Amino acid sequence: MNFNQANLPFVINPDVNAQVVVIRVCYQWMINYNYLIIDPQTRAAVIVDPAWEFDKLNATIAQHQVTLRGVLLTHSHADHIHLADRIAKTYACPVWMSQIEIEHSQFDCHNLQALELPLTHNNGEALSVENLGSENLNSEKLNSNASAPTLLNPFTIEGLTIYPVLTPGHTPGCICYWINGHLFTGDVLFAEGCGLCRNEAAAFQMYDSLAYLKQQLTPQTRIFPGHSYGREPGQLFANVLRENMYLQFKTKASFSAFRLRKNQSKARLFGFS
Ligand SMILES: [Zn+2]
Repeated sequence: MNFNQANLPFVINPDVNAQVVVIRVCYQWMINYNYLIIDPQTRAAVIVDPAWEFDKLNATIAQHQVTLRGVLLTHSHADHIHLADRIAKTYACPVWMSQIEIEHSQFDCHNLQALELPLTHNNGEALSVENLGSENLNSEKLNSNASAPTLLNPFTIEGLTIYPVLTPGHTPGCICYWINGHLFTGDVLFAEGCGLCRNEAAAFQMYDSLAYLKQQLTPQTRIFPGHSYGREPGQLFANVLRENMYLQFKTKASFSAFRLRKNQSKARLFGFS
């Protein structure tokens, strides 16, 4: 397959139990990647960041004979949420976004579900299910660090186990979704770079989020970003780790200085492919 010919959507059958259909959608100069993630046993599916081309998404869902069971939103920017409401109404399915992102953006849509921070004790230990007795749900005992990258509570849809990973930086409540060996990264991590950060505090958060992914992901993880600047979606993390210069910085300060550097070429920033 020649990626540049854009003969999409195409299907990746990984060696783990989920199919990913890559759907390239466009509006004027915007090009986004939407992903239909399918449990091959039950044909249950979820879609990531649906936008721009409603008919194309419907046709892809029909073509693959799946039951759409939910919409996963990575963050609240317009090019990632554009069709969430319409898809939720059409397919009567829930839409997930992080609670932090909802609070910051005031985003709302049909059937919106908030992904909340896991509750932890003040000593930082995660609360286990057994600990969730009512006496432990005293907020004085609990604490959450909204700015740190964190694994949120996973949930399952048939054979798909969805691990939302809070990775702030591009926005305060950005989520990457880790599903059956694949990471859907929105505007956090691209094959060729990372998302924009509005200021130094956000760049520091982004540095921590990327460091967390470097620590957590296996080299075999496939990376499915919201945009491409030339590389085909589904790159092995081993390759991204080696070739993406935003993953090479050793300090927050050097990362931040580079991410926020002046005179970045707009043509390159929006040079989607
Ligand atoms: Zn964005």
